[in-house]
Amino acid sequence: MFSTLYQATGFKRAILLCKEGKYSEAEAILKSLQDEFLAVCEENEALKAQLTEVANVLDLAEKVQFDGQKYWLVEENEKKGPFCQVCYDRDGLLVHLQEHGKHWECQNCRGLYMMPRNEAEQLAAKRAHPRGSSKKTIPLFLEREMG
Ligand SMILES: [Zn+2]
Repeated sequence: MFSTLYQATGFKRAILLCKEGKYSEAEAILKSLQDEFLAVCEENEALKAQLTEVANVLDLAEKVQFDGQKYWLVEENEKKGPFCQVCYDRDGLLVHLQEHGKHWECQNCRGLYMMPRNEAEQLAAKRAHPRGSSKKTIPLFLEREMG
């Protein structure tokens, strides 16, 4: 706001000074306006970069689901992961967990996650029925028990 006003009044003054033939004074004003302009451009670029970063974080946050233990990335009907809860919460990093028989391990923080007994079954059921964006895993489980 301040810089816009400053430029508006500055340009007007520079024009007036030119009309009066006071070119060196007008030149000094234009020079300071240029400095101001470059500073605003720099600030604008920084804000744009910041905005993109925030948008990416928000976009990601919408796709990340917590299963009570670790994170999954859900894009359209594809579920990727799992990812380390500690690394995401602490550093905003999605670190793939490595499968080790009955547990998952984070290669970054060395965190261990016990694998629920029915996790593999649930994943298989999800792959078999990819439609719907339901976040619930319980109905699938019940469906299996009843059927
Ligand atoms: Zn981790």
